[in-house]
Amino acid sequence: MSAVSPVLELVDVGRHYKEGQGQLTILEGASFSLAPGEMVALVAPSGAGKSTLLHLAGLLEMPDQGDVFVAGRSAGRLSDDERTQIRRNEIGFVYQFHHLLPEFTALENVMMPQMVRGLTAAAAGERAAQLLDYLKVGHRSTHRPSELSGGEQQRVAIARAVANAPTVLLADEPTGNLDPETAGYVFDALEALVRQSGLSALIATHNHQLAARMDRRVTLKGAKIVDL
Ligand code: ADP
Repeated sequence: MSAVSPVLELVDVGRHYKEGQGQLTILEGASFSLAPGEMVALVAPSGAGKSTLLHLAGLLEMPDQGDVFVAGRSAGRLSDDERTQIRRNEIGFVYQFHHLLPEFTALENVMMPQMVRGLTAAAAGERAAQLLDYLKVGHRSTHRPSELSGGEQQRVAIARAVANAPTVLLADEPTGNLDPETAGYVFDALEALVRQSGLSALIATHNHQLAARMDRRVTLKGAKIVDL
């Protein structure tokens, strides 16, 4: 057992999907833990179950067996409302596609989750502007997503994901839609942010160069999460 408590822990998790008459086993007896400040790459082929794992870790899906602990709290069996609450406070998500709200500016997109959580517009706007500056898209804060490049959209999506200062950042191929050079720059920004803020991150990626820059790499093998 490690001396520090993990910020995220999957314990003997099982997840199966129905497939015709039978079932498709994605995870079985799968365990994983993420230490504070740790940045871990999840590298596995398409269809292996990376998104499923991230959805379980982010409390968007429930495990069929086992439990998921976020910041030490057992979350696998909580109600939807309780899981939403934990997700809002502790977890940030970045997807392959930005999922920004098209009718709002970059700044407003980053303000939104903070205001949902109860911050005033002034406080949310101040933090949003700081984050966009830090991620080097401050000069685009009044633009809508359609007026931003792919790399800029992902920087804004990263700012939004960390707007509420989560404990854990989960990212599903965050640079997967970008050309290699832009992917490198966006990952630089993401890594700097994670390192500087002491966040913990689990990042699914196909990009072995980016995976090599993280503290540890895991993959899915035989429905388990194993070190790579
Ligand atoms: P990855 O992210 O590694 O590409 P996924 O987690 O998306 O993998 O999917 C793993 C497997 O589970 C795939 O074979 C996929 O078709 C299947 N799958 C994912 N979600 C569902 C679902 N809701 N119902 C049935 N099968 C699913």
